[in-house]
Amino acid sequence: MAARYKNLIDGEMVETGAWLDVLNPANEQVIGQVPVCGPSELDRAVAAARRAFKSWKKTTFEERQATCLAISKAIKDNADELFRLLTSEQGKPHEQARYEINGAAGLAAAQSGLKLEEEIIEDSDVRLHRSRRVPVGVVGGIVPWNFPVMMAIQKIVPALMAGCTIVLKPSPFTPLTTLRIAELIAGTVPPGTVNIITGEDSLGPLITSHPDIDKITFTGSTATGKKIMEGASADLKRITLELGGNDASIVLPDADPKKVAEQLFWSSFSNAGQICVAAKRIYIHEDIYDELSQAIVDYARSVKVGDGSQQGTGVGPIQNKKQFERVCELIQDARDNGYKFLLGGDVDPSGSGYYVPITILDNPPEDARIVAEEQFGPVMPLMKFSSEDEVINRANNSDYGLAGAVWTGNPDKGVEIAEQLETGTVWINEYLHLSPMAPFGGHKQSGFGAEYGLEGLKEFTYPQVITLKRDFTPA
Ligand code: NAD
Repeated sequence: MAARYKNLIDGEMVETGAWLDVLNPANEQVIGQVPVCGPSELDRAVAAARRAFKSWKKTTFEERQATCLAISKAIKDNADELFRLLTSEQGKPHEQARYEINGAAGLAAAQSGLKLEEEIIEDSDVRLHRSRRVPVGVVGGIVPWNFPVMMAIQKIVPALMAGCTIVLKPSPFTPLTTLRIAELIAGTVPPGTVNIITGEDSLGPLITSHPDIDKITFTGSTATGKKIMEGASADLKRITLELGGNDASIVLPDADPKKVAEQLFWSSFSNAGQICVAAKRIYIHEDIYDELSQAIVDYARSVKVGDGSQQGTGVGPIQNKKQFERVCELIQDARDNGYKFLLGGDVDPSGSGYYVPITILDNPPEDARIVAEEQFGPVMPLMKFSSEDEVINRANNSDYGLAGAVWTGNPDKGVEIAEQLETGTVWINEYLHLSPMAPFGGHKQSGFGAEYGLEGLKEFTYPQVITLKRDFTPA
């Protein structure tokens, strides 16, 4: 029988009696089972979080920091076990899974140093007028399957640092590593402060509409984000939404094809392309288009697609069947429309595992589905451009606005173009670098609010202004 993992509610590891299978996307074998929670288990978790909030909101910065550092340490001390488990449920190669686990431990440590200071507006003989931040209360956290551990930690730690308590729901596709971390921290975090519950997608709307949850922090698709905004409107819950992206990379004619090919490749194909901020459209200046596209294809041929637990694998399987079918559909659409493939495009449906070969398309039109939609898979369209204005317009011609990149030998030109892109993050001559200290969030339909940094921390709080009149005493 597959290993069974429990939920964390009110400091205890619990079952519900109903179980959900979790598959390894590399071979479609069941590797674990997790509890299925319904309304009554959710009520229990929310009630525990509400009780814990009464005392947790009064803790000092140092007490919160100590708890978050203990979470970081638990992850770090068990990194070897955790990254292997993560590969088995998510599919990403060991090296990338290790990066996520260590990154989550590092993020927890870094964010545990974030402190929201009071602001003194006036400190005079007449009055003391100050603005402080108070925790919103009980937070509902909902996370996706592409970076399940990182996303869980980036919701739990700032919630705790702000003085909130949390009920977190992992994706039904990737709950195992998060529940193992729950077990590791169960004796460390005060009961009820962190609750981790699992179930089908249908558990999500129950969280969004729960009357005793004060805020939702969500990472996932734009379509689900819209439903969450709607669900949260009934009682005006606070919301932070980190949603999809269709990020453009722009390669100027002075970029050296030999230097940028490998980085451009990994900006698109890390985690099998399943990164919200992956480069999903690559615009290359016509002067270097042929040379650079050839260099990318040459590099791509050296990368192995396969089971992430096997040494040498660079690109693992797609995480789940639904996403696999969507990516296959986009490839088929490109075939049906006669677009040219520089590499890949032949999915073998006969074996087990959700494998899509590294696929690179040659200059499909702007309205091709593979260009206009978020593919979230190992399929990259390369497109030719001839002028800066044209490429900036094409890059911005999207409802999404998450991230983007400019590659150039001229840093000033890179900044000039970056400042014209309608996205929350823009990299110049690098990719995927995020700092726990810098706000991360999407423009347009890529999100609402931000995570990371003091700005992200503030989203777990309300401002409260207290004014003390000093030169008047009624009695
Ligand atoms: P998804 O929206 O399908 O699911 C995300 C989470 O929401 C899961 O836990 C799911 O169970 C839950 N959910 C599903 N329906 C719900 C509902 N009606 N109400 C509440 N919760 C519900 O997303 P996914 O397929 O897991 O993730 C892929 C998407 O996430 C991509 O679009 C990607 O770009 C985006 N993403 C964004 C970021 C970011 O920081 N901006 C990071 C990672 C992934």
